[in-house]
Amino acid sequence: MKTKEGLWKLSPSGLYGYTECKSCFWVDNNYKKQGTLPLLLNSAMDSILKHRYDKYRKKNTFPPEVKELEKEGIMPFTDIVKLEEWREKINSLKVINKKVGYVLAGKIDDVLLEPDGETLIPADYKSSGNAPAEDKQKYYRDQLAAYGYMFKCHGYKVSSRAYLLHYFPKDKTNPNIKVEFVGHIDLVDISKINIERKLKDIVKLLNGKYPGHNPKCKNCSYHEGRVKYVQ
Ligand SMILES: [Zn+2]
Repeated sequence: MKTKEGLWKLSPSGLYGYTECKSCFWVDNNYKKQGTLPLLLNSAMDSILKHRYDKYRKKNTFPPEVKELEKEGIMPFTDIVKLEEWREKINSLKVINKKVGYVLAGKIDDVLLEPDGETLIPADYKSSGNAPAEDKQKYYRDQLAAYGYMFKCHGYKVSSRAYLLHYFPKDKTNPNIKVEFVGHIDLVDISKINIERKLKDIVKLLNGKYPGHNPKCKNCSYHEGRVKYVQ
């Protein structure tokens, strides 16, 4: 969607849609998104994880399942006031680029620190029913690079690495209601992602005509009908 000033509203977490299918991404942004059920279990899990990381953050350490991050000299970001702002206020890291034509805004889950104590490492919690598939990372690289770009625009030093912190149930056949989760650390190299270039490409795509049905996408036939209907 566009702002009143005619800038495309983009968010780091929405960028996976561009990687997934450009045609669907075009429709979702040019027309009001179809209603989706809120993923309440997922956001509950995010809230649990924030509280979990904060509990250990107070002691300047990480939860046991991701403690090996410390072997790399990585520390948690301990300015909780600042972190809360980035987590809760959608505009706290906003980047406006009128020349290209977008507003990039979104909330971040967590931030880690390089051993120098000032270089920020963006992190995102990903909870799911299963262990992450090997190729899953490609959908989230841009999201993490976008957080890095937002931090840079706000004057922070940003690392070349970022992390996806995956959580999934250990045993789906265990009938115990106290579900045990496994944590998995996924390192993402964000140094080679030219996110500014990508944002330009995205705006160009969105400003253009509907790119047409993507035969590789199972949602596209639905959108095809939708575009015809609204035009
Ligand atoms: Zn599609």
